[in-house]
Amino acid sequence: MRALNLPDWIQFNEIGGIPSNNYVIERPRERWIIDPSIVPPPTPATVARSAEPQLRIIATHAHYDHLLALKKILSANPNSRFLIHCEDQPALNDPTTNVARLFGLEAVFPAPDFLLEDNDLIRLDEDLVLQVWRTPGHTPGSSCFLLSRHSGSRRSSDSETASGNCFREETLGSELGLRILRPGKYIDLADGAICLFTGDTLFCGGIGRTDLPGGSPRMMRDSLYLLHRRLTEMPPDLPVLSGHGPGFPAGDMA
Ligand SMILES: [Zn+2]
Repeated sequence: MRALNLPDWIQFNEIGGIPSNNYVIERPRERWIIDPSIVPPPTPATVARSAEPQLRIIATHAHYDHLLALKKILSANPNSRFLIHCEDQPALNDPTTNVARLFGLEAVFPAPDFLLEDNDLIRLDEDLVLQVWRTPGHTPGSSCFLLSRHSGSRRSSDSETASGNCFREETLGSELGLRILRPGKYIDLADGAICLFTGDTLFCGGIGRTDLPGGSPRMMRDSLYLLHRRLTEMPPDLPVLSGHGPGFPAGDMA
């Protein structure tokens, strides 16, 4: 993997028989896993803490090779939460559309605790969010997640982004211990961008398949236009971290 400008509290794990990546974002109170992959990720030791963190799991899409370790992780961590884009929820329970059957498995997966929508901001802590970019084409709900610095609400109901955009915060998921803001439109967070997780939409030198159930070449083309447009606005050294293979800097696509 090329040297990427990643903070030491983000761990990159390439594991499994079919090498699908997972990523761990380690924060003082919570540990966020991007794609459970085939086996649970090793526990990072980059953040000192007095108690075990709450576990939060986010899937970029509902293909089995990104989810096989999910059940094991959830049963070992009963208070963990699982989030995925709403358009990929049906595939969790269907081995044809989660493509397990194609590889001789009958895998189905636990129901999500929270269904994400395009442009949602998942607050990781007081100054970090994951922004949902819905990028359908590989699957209907395939999503990229931009990790960016974005401070908590300065006033009771409004929040200001690094570029000065204000939006009304609607906080969802609080009953689950989550803080999801739903601005209902794209908020430019390029100024604080740390990295982008792209799942199986965009790889180093390639794009995801569109010939699997739920795939759409037309939607993929539109998603790639969107990614290209947004990545040209990002710092050229922004790490782009995909579901398989090495990461690469955003400038390689722009
Ligand atoms: Zn996939």
